[in-house]
Amino acid sequence: MVKRLCILGATGSIGLSTLDVVSRHPEKYEVVALTCHHRVEELFQLCLRHRPRYAVVGEERSIPGLQGRLREAGLPTEVVAGTQALVDVATLPEVDYVMAAIVGAAGLLPTLAAAREGKRILLANKEALVISGPIFMDAVRHSGADLLPIDSEHNAIFQCMPAGYHAGKDPAAVRKILLTASGGPFLNTPLEHLPKVTPEEAVAHPKWDMGKKISVDSATMMNKGLEVIEASLLFAVPPERIQVVIHPQSVIHSLVDYEDGSVLAELGNPDMRIPIAYGLAWPERIESGVEPLDLFEIARLDFQPPDLARFPCLRLAFEAAQAGGTAPALLNAANEVAVAAFLEGRIPYTGIAEVIGDTLDRLSPTAADDLDSVLAADAEARRFAESQIP
Ligand code: NAD
Ligand code: MG
Repeated sequence: MVKRLCILGATGSIGLSTLDVVSRHPEKYEVVALTCHHRVEELFQLCLRHRPRYAVVGEERSIPGLQGRLREAGLPTEVVAGTQALVDVATLPEVDYVMAAIVGAAGLLPTLAAAREGKRILLANKEALVISGPIFMDAVRHSGADLLPIDSEHNAIFQCMPAGYHAGKDPAAVRKILLTASGGPFLNTPLEHLPKVTPEEAVAHPKWDMGKKISVDSATMMNKGLEVIEASLLFAVPPERIQVVIHPQSVIHSLVDYEDGSVLAELGNPDMRIPIAYGLAWPERIESGVEPLDLFEIARLDFQPPDLARFPCLRLAFEAAQAGGTAPALLNAANEVAVAAFLEGRIPYTGIAEVIGDTLDRLSPTAADDLDSVLAADAEARRFAESQIP
């Protein structure tokens, strides 16, 4: 049966890769809804190609222009705007799969709503899970939604789990999870040069082509820190059983270490179409468009432990993971504010970890029992972090 898709964040890096995979299999997938924030022209082009029933834009004032052009082009697409519209399209009865590919906390409400509705969630938007933690996982358990991790590491781990494994279940006989990290563009940059690195240098990732925010997160390794929290939620393992391994080639996407000494890994070229195709087709497999892996060309695989003096954000994330409650929400919100300020040239690169550290020092986490508590923590951390920035 054809699976009908809602793609949240269709104009982004993950959204476009998803549409690339989907268009290779028109007999299997149909696009029902596409969303964007500001890139309305890009969304228009995507609508022409994929003919969705709904298109969501960030602001009301963008509706008339896009609606008019779609009508002129003879498309039946209905244009809507805002957060409630995102929730509405993600929970449409005719939607089977929701690709959660909005960046940051902005993706939380529609992704959580889709999980509550029992949709298959293809989760790229790690921030949504990190901030809502147990609330999100409970929603998945209650509705019986299939939660497929799209983050390449978590997708690799999922692939290495026993057959029939579902996200959130305690995996039997797993000793630890080994989360690989490329180390980003500043793995070998002299420490004294770090205060001077520019946004352009920070977003130029050596292995992956991604949106700006996650590229900066990869440079600071906050991305890996968020992924530690993500992995502990998805695979029900405490953070102390998650080990970060720097592996600059990004060929091994992560590993699972079992009690009998077997270590399973998933390998492939660094291309997000691999986890996306897996999430779409699971439990089957489909062609993704990714080049076959050539081990002779790669020739060697290197590993090293992360240096927490170079990557203080990774330490902060481990501390937030251990603290639990709303600590991950505080961490994530402070990071979103700090990264935006760095990209706007308002703080230096090394100021990112300082803003997050100050926020976590000042604000105390509370229990994350309901959505209101995590949204309040998110808002409080944003306010405090903003006040630390000139
Ligand atoms: P991106 O910046 O390329 O795209 C973000 C998308 O979200 C765009 O469509 C944008 O219009 C939309 N968006 C941004 N702000 C919004 C808001 N306030 N409201 C509604 N929509 C908004 O980002 P990306 O690299 O595609 O990453 C998307 C998510 O996937 C992130 O959470 C990221 O951590 C995760 N992820 C990305 C990659 C990757 O390779 N790019 C890998 C793993 C995980
Ligand atoms: Mg990742």
